[in-house]
Amino acid sequence: MKNSKNSLLAKHFSHIYIEKEIISHPITKIILDKFPNSVLVEIDNYKEVFSRPRQNYKLQEISKKLILAKKKGEFLYPGPPLCHDFGYNHFYYTSLIFNCIFSCDYCFLKGMYPSANIVIFVNIEDYFEEIDSVLKRHPLYLSVSYDTDIMALEKIVPFFSMFIEYATSRKDLTIEIRTKTADYEVLQSLKPSENVILAWTLSPQEIIEKFEHKTPSLSARLDAIKKAIENEWKVRLCFDPLLFTKNWDEIYLKFLNQVFEEVEPSKIVDISVGVFRIPKDYLKRMKRVFINEITLFPYEEDQNVCTYPYDLKKEMMDVFLSNLRKFVHQSKIFVI
Ligand code: SF4
Repeated sequence: MKNSKNSLLAKHFSHIYIEKEIISHPITKIILDKFPNSVLVEIDNYKEVFSRPRQNYKLQEISKKLILAKKKGEFLYPGPPLCHDFGYNHFYYTSLIFNCIFSCDYCFLKGMYPSANIVIFVNIEDYFEEIDSVLKRHPLYLSVSYDTDIMALEKIVPFFSMFIEYATSRKDLTIEIRTKTADYEVLQSLKPSENVILAWTLSPQEIIEKFEHKTPSLSARLDAIKKAIENEWKVRLCFDPLLFTKNWDEIYLKFLNQVFEEVEPSKIVDISVGVFRIPKDYLKRMKRVFINEITLFPYEEDQNVCTYPYDLKKEMMDVFLSNLRKFVHQSKIFVI
């Protein structure tokens, strides 16, 4: 894993763009130390690079550049209706990083951002300050890996460990860290925390090979999950998005058997399930760049969200859920 991860990163970050304002920030220094051979380019504002018109998204996907910036304005956003709130009253998300080292065909980031380059907002202390001020008013359920995979990026920027340490010291804060990584090494030196939910997105191996490019295999993710459970981390499983493809029913049934042969259901905090859904505008932008099974599907649109036609969605959910309930009690299953 270590080697494949290093070779994945080696293709990227030949250039690092840095806002002048944060050039001496400690996080900037940590990141730059990891890339002694990159060309450094000073800029005034990350949007000069990230949001410029007529970018070649596909080329950027092959060789991503890194952009280091200072976040200004809002730090927390209300949880979007397309995501689970898991019963929490105050569901928010935050974005310290835009984009991801993996490349899933269905990823909404491909339709949300004009660039595949990765932006890291180094001023994590300002995020913590804002969270502290919200915590004075009410408890908080915060998703911190929503526009990226911060656990997969831990070896570039240690936000994953910093967030765990921070959340552990805040009584009314629960953070969810969503990931597809299998790199357990980044968890090894950390203490499990009651306030942290590690949420692994799992898909059948056939789906991973077809749609989740550069991500770890199912068995590698399951190995990481088993170690996390053994070491008393709180683990959530995300079967989301379920994707329609040839023989989807056989593929997903075999998958559920494989998952629960490896993972003891009683040790899981909960499970989220949902079929693929995406805002209409994001899908439109994805179609301009990517022609594939995901973008070409004739989705149904409702209130500016595209998803599978009602009958197909119902069939997929019914089949999946009726089989999932053979392993896991209904009370642990959250459906969107
Ligand atoms: S791992 Fe998540 S954030 Fe990264 S490309 Fe895949 S869907 Fe997007």
